[in-house]
Formats: sequence, C-alpha cells, structure tokens
Amino acid sequence: MVDGWMFLGYKPPVQNVKNITVLTAFEDNYIYLVESSPGRCFVVDPGEAEPVFDALENRVGTAPTLTHILTTHHHADHTGGVAALKQRTGCKVISPDAKRIAGLDRLVQDGELIKLGDLHIRCIATPGHTTTSMCYFVTGGSLGSGVLFTGDTLFVCGCGRLFECSGQTMFESLQKLAALPDKTLVYPGHDYTEENVRFAITLEPDNKPLQKKLSEVQTQNQRGHGPPYKVGSMLGEEKRINPFLRAKDWQAFTSLRRKKDLF
Ligand SMILES: [Zn+2]
Repeated sequence: MVDGWMFLGYKPPVQNVKNITVLTAFEDNYIYLVESSPGRCFVVDPGEAEPVFDALENRVGTAPTLTHILTTHHHADHTGGVAALKQRTGCKVISPDAKRIAGLDRLVQDGELIKLGDLHIRCIATPGHTTTSMCYFVTGGSLGSGVLFTGDTLFVCGCGRLFECSGQTMFESLQKLAALPDKTLVYPGHDYTEENVRFAITLEPDNKPLQKKLSEVQTQNQRGHGPPYKVGSMLGEEKRINPFLRAKDWQAFTSLRRKKDLF
C-alpha cells in the first residue's frame, strides 16, 4: 500500500510523487494515474485498461472517479486501454491526433492549456517519434515545479525512435522540452533507462553523472520493482546525462540517433 493506494496483481505500482501513481503495463510501459482533485483522477497513456481498473478498484476507501484520459501519441502500447476505460467509466479522451485515436473527445494543439481539478496542463507539441506526438507539462496542486509526461519523445537518458519525422524535427522538439525548468520531473512512456545509460557511456565514458546513474539504475533493476523504486528523472539531470539533449545541433543529433538504433 502506498499513500492510500492498495493493489492486487501486476507489478507493484510506484509513488514517488504525491498524487501520481505509476502503473506498469506490458514489458516496460508506464501508465500514470494522476489525482487532479480529491476523488477525481486522470490517466496518461493507458496501453492496457486492467492495471487502471485494478488501481481504481483496489484503492482503500472510495474509488476515485476517472474523468479523463490523456494520450501522448497514437501507438497501441499507449492507447490500447482507452476504449475499455471510456466505455466503463464514461471518461473523456484528450489527444493530439484526430484520426488515429478512437473515442477522441478533445483534440489538443501546441500551447493549449487545460485545467483538470487543481492542476494546469500545458500541451507541448513534440513531433519526432510520430507527427502528432504531444507532451504534457502539469503544474499546480502538490506537483511542485511541475511534471512532464513525455510519452515516447524523451526517455531517461534517451529519446524515442524517429518513426514519422526527421532528426531535425525531433531535435527541435527536444529543445522545447529542454527549455522547461531544471526541477521538472520527467515521466516517460517506457523504462529503457539501463540500456540508454549504457549507450550514453560509450559516448562519454568520463561523464561522472552518467557513471553514477549507471550504478543507480543497475542497483535498482537488480532489486526489482516496488518501493523505493524510482521512476523518471529531473530535467536538470537529463541535461547532464542525456546524449540527445546534449547534441549541439540537429545534424549531431541525427547521427547519434542512427548510432543508437544500431546499439
Ligand atoms: Zn510510440
């Protein structure tokens, strides 16, 4: 049980931040359940519905009402649970893609602001992984300096593959994210951290923060999920360790991305 949430089945959820519970799906996907105000919540990238239903139903006391789904992009491992969640709860679907996500209620665009409960959500268009990828920067309530849900755009020490856009487009998207405050907590769509850190160290073997990160992530992965498992990282740390944020221009970024594809 973590701060009022109790679960059965699935890997134990993680709560590093008050009011956000991290659920896991498939091999390495993350689903984020965010309490927007007492008794109400929204979910980010539900690739599967069951972990979310489990989380809602197994909460101690009254189950919160799921009011909204936010999706970062159309891939099935981020949207596979949307239809079932919407059907059972009647929640609204917010998405940046008009054609490729079923059940859309509100199409969002770059710069749009959404208020859900006590929270403010800024939509940041980040084409690269897909043409319509969107990141959500959430502030307010108890979220401190802000939490950034990055889907498959920015990972801890890595970035998403270029499925639908050029390296220049993705580089420019990542630069937009890098302009957010260093104290922003980055919550990505997958746990690829260990592989990403291993790759980054081949590029910068003398980077001390990277060496520290490798040792942290290896210890954590050996220990397995469950408290004190840490998900995500701070944007300030990403700027010190993430080779894709450290690339000096889009040409360097594109060549790095190619290298990583072959790693
Ligand atoms: Zn994807």
